[in-house]
Amino acid sequence: MSNLSSSFKAKPGKLYIIATPIGNLEDITIRAIGILQTCDIIACENINKSKRLLLYYGITAQLTTYREQNECEKAIELADKINSGNSVAVISEAGTPAISDPGFRLVRECRHRQLPVIPLPGANAAVSALSISGLPSDGFLFAGFLPPRKSARVKFFAKYLDFEYSIIYYESVHRIDKFIDDLISVVGKERVICVARELTKTFESINVGSVMYVKEKLQSQATKGEYVVIVSKEGFKL
Ligand code: SAM
Repeated sequence: MSNLSSSFKAKPGKLYIIATPIGNLEDITIRAIGILQTCDIIACENINKSKRLLLYYGITAQLTTYREQNECEKAIELADKINSGNSVAVISEAGTPAISDPGFRLVRECRHRQLPVIPLPGANAAVSALSISGLPSDGFLFAGFLPPRKSARVKFFAKYLDFEYSIIYYESVHRIDKFIDDLISVVGKERVICVARELTKTFESINVGSVMYVKEKLQSQATKGEYVVIVSKEGFKL
């Protein structure tokens, strides 16, 4: 990456929101690597996890932790640094910062102070899953993680029972079975869903069909990993 043009170099006094891979380390843009190599500070959710990516691309910038637990104070501190001329890049553990990940508070702080915020687009689990699901994708609702309580989950499903677009959820391996059971209890067995597991990774698996069909498929497969669930408005038709 030594032949990068100047447009790939971080500029003073700017915040860069940088998407990183959701699995495959090579799913990152050339421009993102350039900015990460040349910025003053990289604010990352988890230094140890990010080191794998940063080492892979020979990135040695100063690292600082910016995560849910310190987001508010850290947003002020980093905005101060940007205001005094530093270039700061934010990355999360995976995918696009600020999307079910830290980032929003720092971006908002910079917007309040009229400091420049630059997006470096790239991997995102929700959009990746939607793009290969075959479910209607003209419009969609990104719901992220639902609350862990069954009653809250069921209430949400009921509220959006007749919603006119596909709805995208993130879910953890610990709750995926309960999620599907609660979904069936509200929408029935025929609604079409897509469950995308471990996207871009070695054990990527995609199941699309009626909720009941997908439930049975999941029961016969390995479950470890990260999940995106997309719920369509309709029953199955090809
Ligand atoms: N900021 C990330 C993005 O842009 O997609 C999302 C981060 S959120 C904390 C993590 C959740 O995203 C996981 O629990 C899972 O629901 C989803 N996810 C992330 N990577 C994934 C992958 N490779 N395959 C499937 N789902 C994934």
